[in-house]
Amino acid sequence: MDLGIAGKWALVCGASKGLGFGCAKALVEDGVNVVINARTDAALQEAAAKLRAISEDLASAKGQKPSQVLAVACDITSPEGRDAVFSVPGGPGKDFDIVVTNAGGPPPGDFRDWDREAWIKAVDANMLTPIELIKATVDGMAARGFGRIVNITSSAVKAPIDILGLSNGARSGLTGFVAGLARSGIAAKGVTINSILPGKFDTDRLVATHQAAASKTGQAVDAIRAAQAAQIPAKRFGTAEEFGAICAFLCSVHAGYMTGQNILPDGGLYPGTY
Ligand code: NAD
Repeated sequence: MDLGIAGKWALVCGASKGLGFGCAKALVEDGVNVVINARTDAALQEAAAKLRAISEDLASAKGQKPSQVLAVACDITSPEGRDAVFSVPGGPGKDFDIVVTNAGGPPPGDFRDWDREAWIKAVDANMLTPIELIKATVDGMAARGFGRIVNITSSAVKAPIDILGLSNGARSGLTGFVAGLARSGIAAKGVTINSILPGKFDTDRLVATHQAAASKTGQAVDAIRAAQAAQIPAKRFGTAEEFGAICAFLCSVHAGYMTGQNILPDGGLYPGTY
């Protein structure tokens, strides 16, 4: 399917690996120019090189222009980081057509141990940073008559996970805010805002949670992985490619009538009808 977004500019945050990289790859495969961001320069440059190679291969096979891939190493949760992505030479400034918000998730724990600073950090990363990115770009999108914002949140928004209270709280705040904004005047101007709520996807983050569980319980990592996968109706974890394909569809011209939605790719783990 031609997604109809070749030549548009996307900002994809947290994209050196994992779900963000999956989104950037799917967009580049559809001819979108990307500015990718992550904190570690070496990993980010490696990701950018992979995306350029994919794009150049596809472009020579199809006889089209390769996508531009710009990389900005910075902490997207800081004002300086956001300024850096909006001022990268050769980039579109704030005139992005597509914005994929993403950053690391807050740590697990017991709410009795979290002080104000822990909460502010979580709310900053997983609620206020996406809102700042939206604020910087959404009116330009509306003025140009096309825009796609996709927030990477978590299945914890739909089915809270007790040890991830910081994530449950901060991401639910973002979800409530964008539910209102998506249905405001921007909806009639071709701008959609949707969130994808990952269940268990096989990224470094999931591996880290398995390793943490293994060292806490003394169980083998493989046994923990197998037990978790067995609880999922699909009997496996999702892949970053599958996640990226959903994101690219939400960014496509075909998804223009879908806004304010929370999409839950989780292999059927959430047990509810709705
Ligand atoms: P990952 O650790 O594989 O990749 C995270 C990416 O984000 C990396 O590129 C990292 O450099 C970047 N990043 C982190 N903090 C950043 C910051 N402050 N500024 C810029 N870049 C930053 O993680 P992932 O599995 O791809 O997860 C992405 C998001 O989805 C996280 O918020 C995570 O909590 C959430 N999530 C993931 C899963 C899963 O199963 N993988 C499930 C639920 C929620």
